[in-house]
Amino acid sequence: MGNRGRILRLPSTNMIPLPFLLLLLIVVMNPAIVVSQEDGRSHEVHCSRERSRAAWKIIELYLMPFIKEEKYNISRNCKLHSHNDMFREQEQHKIFMDYNEWKCGFCKKSFREEKYLDKHFHNRHYNLLDHTEGRCLADLCGSLHCDEVIEPKKPKSKCNPAAAAKNRHLCETLADSCFPVNKGHISSRLHEFFLRQFCDAHTCSIGGRKPFPRGGRKETSILYLATCILIVLLLPLFYVIVWLHQREKTSKGYLDFKRISKMSRKQKAT
Ligand SMILES: [Zn+2]
Repeated sequence: MGNRGRILRLPSTNMIPLPFLLLLLIVVMNPAIVVSQEDGRSHEVHCSRERSRAAWKIIELYLMPFIKEEKYNISRNCKLHSHNDMFREQEQHKIFMDYNEWKCGFCKKSFREEKYLDKHFHNRHYNLLDHTEGRCLADLCGSLHCDEVIEPKKPKSKCNPAAAAKNRHLCETLADSCFPVNKGHISSRLHEFFLRQFCDAHTCSIGGRKPFPRGGRKETSILYLATCILIVLLLPLFYVIVWLHQREKTSKGYLDFKRISKMSRKQKAT
């Protein structure tokens, strides 16, 4: 018997039926469908956690500061309300410990990356997800320009006028339901602001506006930090050099003065 008899042969892909392979591929490729088999049950969530997270980030950065400034209370019927994000409770229980440590706020288990914590939430704390109708924040991504946040550097694909018009309509509907113009001055002002901030950019016209012209916290870049540290370190050195220079000038002036006064005394004596 040679070694040939002991070689473990992997099943050929030809043995797996093609429809099954296609189904597997659709499930793997579609981020909106997440299926887990924990506890023998299959959990299906037809809402992308990543896109919901991007939508929430946009709301937090480019809308909430203005709503807080106006002291306006968003109604729960408005889809932008945090209550309408099915992942909100889980996201609030994410604890960022360190560069490569994330902790589950429910059971204190640690993970190296955020994506593993996401999987853990899906598998272990699935019961906390309330995915009743209309609680998928990712559905608002068309109106809120989520791709600008998910892939900011990706080159823009050719503008589709029909898609832009549809997103603009959804955006305006959102403005109408969250900030009704007949609900007073503040609501009316925020309605106008929402249109400028999110809806105006849904256009294919040349020179069309960019989304979120106002707001957004500036991210602190490494370069900015390094420049600050360098300035803090170099500033005392600069003052020492200036001080030494001044001291040298003063002592030179004093010597010149002494020399001149000595010479004038000599002249007076003669
Ligand atoms: Zn946990």
